[in-house]
Amino acid sequence: MRLSRYFLPVTKETPADAEVISHKLMLRAGLVRQTSAGIYAWLPLGFRVLRKIEQIVREEQDRAGAIEMLMPTIQSAELWRESGRYDAYGPEMLRIADRSDRDLLYGPTNEEVITSLFKDGAKSYRDLPRNLYHIQWKFRDERRPRFGVMRGREFLMKDAYSFDLDEAGGRISYNKMFVAYLRTFARMGLRAMPMQADTGPIGGDLSHEFIVLAPSGESEVFFHESWEQPRTAEDYAVDVEDSAALQAFVDSMTADYAATDEKRDEAREAEMGDALRESRGVEVGHIFFFGEKYSKAMGLKVSGPDGDMVTPLMGSYGIGVSRLVGAIIEASHDDDGIVWPESVAPYKIGLINMRADDETCTAAADDLYARLEAAGVEVLYDDRDERGGAKFATMDVIGLPWQLIVGPRGLEKGVVELKNRATGERVELAPELAIGKLS
Ligand code: ATP
Ligand code: MG
Ligand code: MG
Ligand code: MG
Repeated sequence: MRLSRYFLPVTKETPADAEVISHKLMLRAGLVRQTSAGIYAWLPLGFRVLRKIEQIVREEQDRAGAIEMLMPTIQSAELWRESGRYDAYGPEMLRIADRSDRDLLYGPTNEEVITSLFKDGAKSYRDLPRNLYHIQWKFRDERRPRFGVMRGREFLMKDAYSFDLDEAGGRISYNKMFVAYLRTFARMGLRAMPMQADTGPIGGDLSHEFIVLAPSGESEVFFHESWEQPRTAEDYAVDVEDSAALQAFVDSMTADYAATDEKRDEAREAEMGDALRESRGVEVGHIFFFGEKYSKAMGLKVSGPDGDMVTPLMGSYGIGVSRLVGAIIEASHDDDGIVWPESVAPYKIGLINMRADDETCTAAADDLYARLEAAGVEVLYDDRDERGGAKFATMDVIGLPWQLIVGPRGLEKGVVELKNRATGERVELAPELAIGKLS
């Protein structure tokens, strides 16, 4: 993409209403704009990041055996009356009436819709287990929308719903999602810690929030220092079809202490001494096994292996896709701007023509651009006739992993400059070598 033909409203000023660094940088880097309180438009560069995150989420859901579909954003109040949640949900629900005065709502979550769809389509135990997911916009009329996309009112969520014949099956479905979540966040360069969360009246230990550390986080978290070790998706490469290995793996991942404020264990913390860490964190995902709650209320039953009707047990599994854009920036930025992990970067390379008014320089930059594009590399090409300093500042704030700088002085020596955004390291090399290294 040529910057001269793009839409990238980068700003120098930090808007006054932006409190946290990720919100400031998202506005400065031209990723989003707020159109109403807690409602954001995704500008072209931000939209590319959102899509990359969504794709990683999708790949890991698919890998875990979940099946993608798409449910609507607008739901009928009828379904929520059936589950008993319509009145209970409260002011966070955006309630709408259509022209015939039928009660509708903008979905804050989808348990009711999926349960009714599954009820319609699943007849016997052979239709179990299943895990269905979608990636769809949600609306919650948050009391205090803030921190940009991290607590919006309209936000993009991946939500999956599992249906199982019995508790043991339900646990397997839960464990598969548990591992998928660890892999998903690791692939985005995030260290997300699973922390036991409240399960409400159902009880049990089958609910975890996945929390990423950030000073602006709304949760206070306490954890064992072992969580500070960097981990990659390969560290979570367990065979999810082997349920004993899967359970052992989940047990090992929950062995080291990690708890939110509400779930602290003073006794365990006392034993840990120096190994105890305290920080703030952002909830990026939440998994939950709730058994019969919705299936029973909504009359979902299938015929069991012996012919008797059974009520499937359900779980639900959310990931805050749009919140993750903010959370990743919270975890990866410096004084000059965003530092995107390569897996979610909107483009891999920012190609800078230092002298758009110089024919030789422009020819060389154009040539690099054409060859990188031909090699399938994602390049944002700053071909504008602007000062070099302004171009560097733009590239730094938008945080692409690599900057490839073409200037007349280098070209005289037959080299271009390659800068690594994360380390700041710069090397001079022949254009040929740069293409080889980057593609
Ligand atoms: P929070 O505690 O932050 O209000 P929640 O517990 O209400 O979140 P869930 O119902 O567990 O949220 O939804 C699943 C995921 O959706 C959350 O883990 C979070 O990543 C994301 N999410 C929830 N509310 C918002 C919001 N207002 N803006 C952006 N993402 C959100
Ligand atoms: Mg909430
Ligand atoms: Mg929460
Ligand atoms: Mg939650």
